[in-house]
Amino acid sequence: MKALVVRNLRKGYGNFLALKGINLEVEEGEVFALLGPNGAGKTTLIRILAEGLRYDSGEVLVFGKPLSKETARLIGYVPQESIAYDILTVRENLGFYADLYDAPRGRIDELIEEFGLPANKKAKELSGGQRKKLNLAIALLHEPRTLILDEPSNGLDVPARRELWEIIRRFRREGKTVIIATHYMEEAEKLADRVAIINEGKVIAVGTVDELKRLVGEGSVVHIEGELRIEGLPEGVGVLSENPLRLKVEDPRRELPGIIEALVRAGSEIRLVKVEEPTLEDVFVKLTGRGLE
Ligand code: ATP
Repeated sequence: MKALVVRNLRKGYGNFLALKGINLEVEEGEVFALLGPNGAGKTTLIRILAEGLRYDSGEVLVFGKPLSKETARLIGYVPQESIAYDILTVRENLGFYADLYDAPRGRIDELIEEFGLPANKKAKELSGGQRKKLNLAIALLHEPRTLILDEPSNGLDVPARRELWEIIRRFRREGKTVIIATHYMEEAEKLADRVAIINEGKVIAVGTVDELKRLVGEGSVVHIEGELRIEGLPEGVGVLSENPLRLKVEDPRRELPGIIEALVRAGSEIRLVKVEEPTLEDVFVKLTGRGLE
């Protein structure tokens, strides 16, 4: 069963086309990431799916049905900004949204317990991580089959981010579908079964992380940091980015000595050399000629 099918979706704001014919299919039970830089159109796409934002043309099917109030109940949505009311407590916020979504009141305590939320604290007193969990709890009140999160780990510190990722994985283990929009490639790499790379309103590649990495070609990436002068690199070495310097090589054992020698001869001071697999950022750079940030 497809949790989501998007066909040739177009959306403009005035004369500006934010979505230029998006095509996507998300399977039920997978974590699917929309990865792209700010302004790529991720939020616009998500708002069409989750908020009923109008679009110009194309087709959107949620579990086989066109968008409607009925399909809205199948989706839980965590927007970028918190939707909790600052002056209400955690429990009051959940109560308010439970009434709004017509969700069973028993869910409130279940979710407070599941996320370890401080029930009687006001939303304004919560840490960033707790606030995100409260928003996640609000999105899960009506027990949706699909969870959509827009830039979920923005502004979270590392432990809060880890905890959020664990919650998302748990949700997936229950057989639910998760769609996350992110410009943060580590989030896509760590969480997603499949990734759609979005740029300037178009999907430019879709696949598992491994499939996408193969688009960069076979081989490894040499990552070098320091005061670098990049000159005279050996033939066949591809420059993926200059700062930090990331070089595409076929066989690091064979090519690394020549690379180091060329850099040192050019007057570089090398502090760190690592051999890595290509990242999704490298895939993005390869496809678009620019970085994700
Ligand atoms: P971000 O992560 O920064 O939200 P995004 O990939 O989600 O980026 P969108 O927010 O969908 O991108 O924006 C896509 C493009 O549409 C951007 O160029 C943005 O400036 C423009 N845009 C978004 N909302 C509106 C609006 N209400 N009116 C006019 N232009 C808009």
